[in-house]
Amino acid sequence: MAEFQSVRGFHDIFGQELKKFRYVSDTVRSLLKLYNFEEIILPVVEYLEVFQRSIGEVTDIVQKEMFVFQDRKGRWLALRPEGTAGAVRAYIQNRLYALKPYVKLFYEGPMFRYERPQAGRYRQFHQIGAEVFGTLDPQVDAQMIEMVHTILTKLGISATIEINSIGCRVCRPSYKKALSDYLEDVVGHLCDVCLDRKDKNPLRVLDCKVETCKEAVKQAPKMVDYLCQECATHYETLKSYLDMLSIPYRENHHLVRGLDYYTKTVFEAVSDELGITIIAGGRYDYLVEEMGGPPTPAIGFAVGIERISMLVKDLPQEEPLYMVIPFGDTLDYAFEVIKKLRDMGKRVETSYKKANLKKQLELANKLKADYVVLIGEDEKRQNTITIKNMHTGMQESISFLELAHERL
Ligand code: ATP
Ligand code: MG
Repeated sequence: MAEFQSVRGFHDIFGQELKKFRYVSDTVRSLLKLYNFEEIILPVVEYLEVFQRSIGEVTDIVQKEMFVFQDRKGRWLALRPEGTAGAVRAYIQNRLYALKPYVKLFYEGPMFRYERPQAGRYRQFHQIGAEVFGTLDPQVDAQMIEMVHTILTKLGISATIEINSIGCRVCRPSYKKALSDYLEDVVGHLCDVCLDRKDKNPLRVLDCKVETCKEAVKQAPKMVDYLCQECATHYETLKSYLDMLSIPYRENHHLVRGLDYYTKTVFEAVSDELGITIIAGGRYDYLVEEMGGPPTPAIGFAVGIERISMLVKDLPQEEPLYMVIPFGDTLDYAFEVIKKLRDMGKRVETSYKKANLKKQLELANKLKADYVVLIGEDEKRQNTITIKNMHTGMQESISFLELAHERL
């Protein structure tokens, strides 16, 4: 065993896993650009308060999942557990609201949560997130959900999009009250954590994973029945837009999300294969104001890159690999050929070993070359190269001039 191991929950990503990771990331990024989102690179570290204020004190993330530490001056900092809090902080600090009527940002990077590591759950994981600041129009909600649908379709992943509305300042209090009253009647069935949530954050009881809690909340009142006029209209309009866009969705009356800042629309994409959430998001119409900015409605979602990568089956075909093998005193000519191939945009490997043809071909096979380019004294003299297709075994000789004319 190696002397050093990576820290529990922190992973090296390489090889096939990294190819899938990049494929997911590239696909999402290119789609975000089509929707006119602009990238922002946010710091990995923020003042602890940024997360406490936004995510909420009575949430799993803030109570037990954050990596918190003090700097040398004793200030409390945290590794970011998610991207929205930092994006909101940046939106306000840089006065992005002064630039455009609405602002569409995306970010990508590592997030950190002190959770129990298991398949698809790490302490350092990666998200790509999108945020739209400055509009309450349900069209945006529909577009965000449409993007989620398109991401899944493009990546060939089968998942169900679940939606719900969790109301606003006007209607949520009366729902909370109704839910608390209901929970009072079923206290005997609630887990210890939910007994605590029942008063502080009753909505969170709705998505507890403990069986007895799940059973206990089956008959609980539903938020949708308590929505105020504005929230009800928003929700109905969103659904009508999703229908217009032919986006399939399922209403889940127990969907509440684990962060306090959400309002109105919340949504998740749940993998049909593994039953886990792979993309999640929602509206947060008060957060900018609560963080000290001007009142600004907003909505966002985050894609869990590792979780989605786990579900990717087929990767797009890679660029073919050319392996250039020089024999004898031909290195000068080989260098020219290699440069030409790379100038043409070909992926090129070279043999650093001196060996006979048989050994070189074995090496090319190990490196998974699609073509080998053989360069001997004859080729150098005649200004040609010999190309062998490693899949078919076919071999042909072409002139450097032809190569220069991009015959490959
Ligand atoms: P879960 O219920 O699985 O803990 P969450 O509600 O905490 O998820 P969000 O905070 O909404 O997740 O993050 C959005 C996405 O980020 C999740 O859907 C998931 O794909 C991914 N994600 C969250 N936590 C982790 C983790 N510890 N490891 C890997 N991916 C994660
Ligand atoms: Mg979580």
